[in-house]
Amino acid sequence: MALFDSKAKIIQGYEKSINDKNLSIKRYYDEIGRLYYGQYKDNNVDVTKDINNRCDAVTKLYRDIEELKHKILFEKGLKLCPACKTENNLEYAFCFKCGNKFDPESSKRVIMADEYEQMAAEPEAEDEVEVIDDEDVVEEEKTEDEE
Ligand SMILES: [Zn+2]
Repeated sequence: MALFDSKAKIIQGYEKSINDKNLSIKRYYDEIGRLYYGQYKDNNVDVTKDINNRCDAVTKLYRDIEELKHKILFEKGLKLCPACKTENNLEYAFCFKCGNKFDPESSKRVIMADEYEQMAAEPEAEDEVEVIDDEDVVEEEKTEDEE
């Protein structure tokens, strides 16, 4: 029972997050509309950058919402067929409706884009920094002076 309760709580949290993100998208749309109107009234005002920033933010929010929807399905033991958008059991290798073959990764937990970025950033930090030999630099400078 406790396990079921915690799962319901997790799903509730995801749903709340989707709601919050939808509200943010609405706010951004309002702002974009106001910015555009401001420019329409006064041609000297350039709001392109402000509008683009908000459009990028909206794109990210839509992406986050898609991921949250997948996470909710995962908690319910389901996954979405990428071809026909039908909900399938996580274990299915093929979509029961359209026969689309699932990526084997599709039965695993959805990894958020932010987590991907983190994973991509980590090995980079471990890369060895190329050390420039001071002596070589000095020698090169000398050669240039001579020419
Ligand atoms: Zn399908």
